Amino acid sequence: MKLNERGLLVVLSGPSGVGKGTVRKALFDLEGHDLVYSTSMTTRPQREGEVEGSDYYFVSHEEFERRIKDDAFLEWAEFVGHYYGTPKDKVDAHLQEGREVVLEIEVQGALQVREKAPEGVFIFVAPPNKESLYRRLLRRGTETGDTIQKRMDKAEREFPLAHKYDYIVVNDEVTNAADRVLAIIRAEHARTERSIHKYNQLLEVGKHE
Ligand code: 5GP
Repeated sequence: MKLNERGLLVVLSGPSGVGKGTVRKALFDLEGHDLVYSTSMTTRPQREGEVEGSDYYFVSHEEFERRIKDDAFLEWAEFVGHYYGTPKDKVDAHLQEGREVVLEIEVQGALQVREKAPEGVFIFVAPPNKESLYRRLLRRGTETGDTIQKRMDKAEREFPLAHKYDYIVVNDEVTNAADRVLAIIRAEHARTERSIHKYNQLLEVGKHE
């Protein structure tokens, strides 16, 4: 019987406005992988065009707080007045099946995951410069001036936390950034501590031939 290998947990994170979501979507559009996206839960109002269950699970404050009490989240954070969290059950189930699970979350949440699942791969998506971050937040047009300022202030506090991650990917061009993320995931599979036991099994098989 072949036992399933536990899958790889990939955390894409970084300040709001760096284009994490766009990089994540471009990553999923690339060929030749079997990644699964962990849809988050939020209390933020649904934006036009967003799909329930695909972009987010949209729930009330009360519902979210009930789930916090039930310990239903791998991590959760309050971000600019709303709750965001990663439902634990699906992530666990996918990892058990040996799937590669991608989280796209803000910085506080990523640092919580780092504590709980240090074997994950932590990627900080960075903007090429601060102006591009501001321009992106303005262009998105989904936030008011006040919220944009709050997101910018938060980003300023998050830039110095990049050193806590395994990799930094600059989002200079979306498809390049997505290519680099996929290259990182592939390289992680070959990392000695992840692959040595398979290699040892190969040596064992060779011995008895
Ligand atoms: P937005 O409101 O722009 O969709 O998301 C705001 C921020 O929350 C983004 O940085 C996004 O990556 C992050 N985010 C989305 N889902 C989660 C989650 O489940 N947990 C945490 N900690 N952050 C999340």
